[in-house]
Amino acid sequence: MQPAINQPIYDVIIAGAGPVGLFLACELALARCSVLVLEKAPSPHSPLKRLPFGLRGLNALSVEALDRRGLLAELAVPKSLTTPHFTTKPGPSPSPKPQAGGHFAGIQLPADKIDFAQWPYRLPSSTSTQLFSELEELETVLARRAEALGVSIRRGRGITALRPTPEGVTVQAGEQSFLGRWLVGCDGGRSVVRKLGGFDFVGTEPEFTGYTAQVDILDPEKLRPGRNVTPTGMYMQSQPGYLILQDFDGGAFHQAGQPVTLEHMQELTRRISGTDVTLTALHLATTWTDRARQTTAYRRGRVLLAGDAAHIHSPLGGQGINLGLGDALNLGWKLAATIHGHAPAGLLDSYQTERHPVGAQVLDWSRAQVAIMRPNPAAQALHAIVRDLMDTPDGATYFAGRIWGLRTRYDLGAGHPLVGHSAPHFALEDGTTLNEHLRDGRGLLLDFEADETLKAWAGRFGGQIKYVSGRAKEQLGMRAVLVRPDGFVAWASERQGIGSELPQATRH
Ligand SMILES: Cc1cc2nc3c(=O)[nH]c(=O)nc-3n(C[C@H](O)[C@H](O)[C@H](O)COP(=O)(O)OP(=O)(O)OC[C@H]3O[C@@H](n4cnc5c(N)ncnc54)[C@H](O)[C@@H]3O)c2cc1C
Repeated sequence: MQPAINQPIYDVIIAGAGPVGLFLACELALARCSVLVLEKAPSPHSPLKRLPFGLRGLNALSVEALDRRGLLAELAVPKSLTTPHFTTKPGPSPSPKPQAGGHFAGIQLPADKIDFAQWPYRLPSSTSTQLFSELEELETVLARRAEALGVSIRRGRGITALRPTPEGVTVQAGEQSFLGRWLVGCDGGRSVVRKLGGFDFVGTEPEFTGYTAQVDILDPEKLRPGRNVTPTGMYMQSQPGYLILQDFDGGAFHQAGQPVTLEHMQELTRRISGTDVTLTALHLATTWTDRARQTTAYRRGRVLLAGDAAHIHSPLGGQGINLGLGDALNLGWKLAATIHGHAPAGLLDSYQTERHPVGAQVLDWSRAQVAIMRPNPAAQALHAIVRDLMDTPDGATYFAGRIWGLRTRYDLGAGHPLVGHSAPHFALEDGTTLNEHLRDGRGLLLDFEADETLKAWAGRFGGQIKYVSGRAKEQLGMRAVLVRPDGFVAWASERQGIGSELPQATRH
């Protein structure tokens, strides 16, 4: 594996131009790193990435992240499926409230029961708590932004080998080799980087095979609307002619890699729905399982993992992209700071300490859903109890917080209750917003009191921290907030004379 003479050395090579690899490329390029993305598939297009197969639910954190980089407005499809924006602020019950917004084990979240007062720091936002996007469109928007920022995307170049060198990593893609100071595997659930990099990938084996299929149905009225958990599995007609099924076969069908036939779909649909429905044609089908695994480490030397390469789980409740985009957002600025030599000690390690627990929680979230969907009386009894609990204000608020990502909090030490959470969407009296101020990817010190000490403190970071002073329309009692490049609060204070608190309070 000898690189050609005079070959460029990229700061970062990313394996995989899926949503996570592309978003990470954007983050790194925004922070002035040179980035090469190597993608195995020769074409970015696939019917599995387009509606309805490619429909992906983005949670509040992903929607905020895209908005904080000015990418949300570029997503056109399908705005009609966007759930209403919601408003949470201390005081009387806000409006409007969302009408829909996810499910747990097929149980629809009762949005009208959510107690918004339990999220006192969430401000009115121009962004939604949940939005559905088409995978192909999301990737197109991200690839366009990445290329505009100078990222080189090479398609039809699957990584086949890698070798650590003193300066970084040499990567082989077919006949060609490439040099990077760092390599990030964003190459999906079957990650080659994970295997070649020697990462341990541990977890639980699947209980079912899931199917998403486009079919012609002679008598679709025989199938009930919505998501139906039955004594033999789960079925859903997501829209006319599109079926989603779960068959508790221990994942055997998917693992055997057999082609899905019309006869197979017919037998399954009848068995799971308990009807004699008739399918007359099968156009397209894909299978998946609930295998849940996570690498024990997200980094080995100069090789890192993000997205499905680091964790896989069932798509129940749609958490995978959200988890992966969160990885990319967390890793991008830390890796860039490391490359530019201004990262404090331990910053890159905090990628693992912050993101691994979030990934483990999502794996457990998916396992918990499977546990109450099993086709046995005990699971069905539990399913009924969870349904009842979800229908209470505390239950609905808890589930919404998990499904929308609002409960995500990094352990950044003691301090104001906001520390470790995604920042509230402050709107300043000059008409600008927190999300807009984060668009250039820098940290942000929002000073609501025009405190000269704070201004001087921010100035010591040579432009890495943007200082903005101005009154907010709603300050939530806050005097100043320090926000990391990824939009999470590193420090906040409600007290006067706070400048002296800052240096100790900003490990990250
Ligand atoms: C049916 C279904 C429904 C889902 N619904 C949702 C949902 O509603 N919400 C949600 O958040 N998530 C959902 N997910 C999960 C989500 O799609 C994934 O978590 C997400 O696509 C992961 O993104 P990624 O970039 O990590 O990996 P991928 O999207 O898998 O992208 C990896 C890329 O790497 C490339 N690659 C592979 N090997 C190599 C190699 N050797 N070298 C270079 N490139 C390589 C691949 O071609 C691919 O382009 C769903 C998944 C399924 C199966």
